Amino acid sequence: MSQVNPFRGTRYVLSAHELRQLPADTGYEVAIAGRSNAGKSSALNALTGHKSLARTSKTPGRTQQIVIFEVDGERRIADLPGYGYAKVSKALREHWQDIMQVYFEQRQSLRGVVLVMDIRHPMKPFDTQMLTWCEATGLPCHVLLTKADKLKRGPAQSALLQVQRQLPPRASAQVFSATRPEGLDTLIARLCAWYELTPGK
Ligand code: GDP
Repeated sequence: MSQVNPFRGTRYVLSAHELRQLPADTGYEVAIAGRSNAGKSSALNALTGHKSLARTSKTPGRTQQIVIFEVDGERRIADLPGYGYAKVSKALREHWQDIMQVYFEQRQSLRGVVLVMDIRHPMKPFDTQMLTWCEATGLPCHVLLTKADKLKRGPAQSALLQVQRQLPPRASAQVFSATRPEGLDTLIARLCAWYELTPGK
């Protein structure tokens, strides 16, 4: 199935070091999260059809930033800080966790979270923490098991089933690959539902 991708025109807006720097809490926001190196930037680039949209914001100081992209005037993607850099101190990690918790609890426009995991290393402590936050705040979470091209189809499907068995009620999962590419239509359909967007328009 091929459809018009409504995320093609997505643009960088700003990088927020603190929650008060975020754009007005109106419209629709979808967050994308993942351990560093899981493949989050590549997934964002594949979704938006940009070669380096997410990479521009990938600087060392970015561990505490939320990067905002605009799909259209009412709809945003919030790229949450990658997690798991060995260099990050315990104090910084705790500070980040506090910010994330407030973001999840207070952000009214937040409609859902895309949680990116390397299909070969899913459900690490950061991932279960994210799923717990989503569930606690009643947010749907869609797990992107990326780098599926690194596995044969059989093992990829069994990884998906294993993850699905561990997910809380409001969460879903799919297989994805930014390089192949694979799973893009499924991701677009999920996002369109959250954004109340009609694909193809
Ligand atoms: P991030 O830190 O989560 O933003 O991760 P990146 O998107 O920068 O990806 C980390 C590494 O994994 C890079 O070397 C990417 O080229 C690679 N990568 C990301 N997605 C895929 C994928 O779908 N397939 C393969 N084979 N490699 C990927």
